Amino acid sequence: MALVVQKFGGSSVADAESIKRVAKRIVDTRRAGNDVVVAVSAMGDTTDELLDLANEVTPIQDPRELDMLLTAGERISMALLAMAIKAQGLNAVSFTGSQAGMLTDGKYGAAKIVSVTPGRVQKALEQGAIAIVAGFQGFNQGTGDVTTLGRGGSDTTAVALAAALKADVCEIYTDVDGVFTADPRVVPLARKLDAITSEEMLELAAAGAKVLHLRAVEFARRHGVTLHVRSSFAGHQGTFVYDPEQGIPEGITMEEPIIAGVAAEKNDAKITVVGVPDAPGLAAQIFTIVAKTNANVDMIVQNVSHAAEVPRTDISFTVPVEQGRTVVNALQAEQETLGFEALQYDDQIAKIALVGAGMRTNSGVSAKLFKALYEAGINIEMISTSEIRISVVTRADMLEEAQRVLHTAFGLDAEEEATVYAGTGR
Ligand code: ASP
Ligand code: MG
Repeated sequence: MALVVQKFGGSSVADAESIKRVAKRIVDTRRAGNDVVVAVSAMGDTTDELLDLANEVTPIQDPRELDMLLTAGERISMALLAMAIKAQGLNAVSFTGSQAGMLTDGKYGAAKIVSVTPGRVQKALEQGAIAIVAGFQGFNQGTGDVTTLGRGGSDTTAVALAAALKADVCEIYTDVDGVFTADPRVVPLARKLDAITSEEMLELAAAGAKVLHLRAVEFARRHGVTLHVRSSFAGHQGTFVYDPEQGIPEGITMEEPIIAGVAAEKNDAKITVVGVPDAPGLAAQIFTIVAKTNANVDMIVQNVSHAAEVPRTDISFTVPVEQGRTVVNALQAEQETLGFEALQYDDQIAKIALVGAGMRTNSGVSAKLFKALYEAGINIEMISTSEIRISVVTRADMLEEAQRVLHTAFGLDAEEEATVYAGTGR
């Protein structure tokens, strides 16, 4: 008997009909002789709707209460799913994050899992039931409060359960057929990948690919969990996300393309500190001030201008847009000590990333990328690279066009358009 963990995203359980369809899939898996543990997201766009509602009540929400509110979404779907399974003749029990032993730190809205003690889940399995666990939520023992794991966090719930229960398979069911070379909602000719290394998936998720939660990929990589991302609407084999050091999943031939895919996001703002005196220690001072605001700096670009009489430099960096204003204010307050000339703030930027393990051994990737963007008339404002990723900052309104252009330039276009089965992409 195998233990299968299955995760169903919001668009897979958007209404009563979908819940019954998903229940059928779970029941079939159980009837095929497997133990089944399910992690489920809130129905459809419930989480966004709850957020909208909170915003209508007050623009600034108490983080504890916001988590309390959002965890309600998964409570609804988990109970309905358990009911639907029971109606199909099998036993199922639903558990909140805290009942399932999802212990997290106390950071509301972005809690990290510290340990998983799924005693009740195991007991349910021993009694022959299917266990349904609310995704995206946990419990902090220190405060005694419920927490959420960050948007898209149900994937992480599934992976954490799979690791703790030593599951044989962790299946992530979604509204597309797997991991694609680009978001098929933006690049219709995106191609489904049969397999992708967890290293590449990490880079894509970090660059804005929403198909998997970044934390889930990190967790899976750390605990050697192979993921199978597939559609809950069609029966096709999806995409295996695996660590080559742990072996290649059965039935998969490694193609090792140079480029795995493109991803993008526009949640960042660019801050430029103009005319910083070119003296040792200034970057340290600037980023110490930034660090004190708890902002997550991503790209940093600095170049000394030789035009000025006193050598000065501009330092540009990106931070998540929610943190942008705080960082600007913190730097502004220190203008005199730092001696810079001005601050510029720009939240109309997009970050486009090209990811592929083949970049390690192939030259000319960046030249091709720059040429493709140039030919499409897309201006590059910042560039940063890792061993297997090249990211550029462009104007926000170029986000979609840039992805399509790169997708074509790197020969990733499929013959046919990808199928998006459901979801609003919200
Ligand atoms: N319902 C949560 C969200 O939409 C968690 C999830 O879907 O994974 O962010
Ligand atoms: Mg959702």
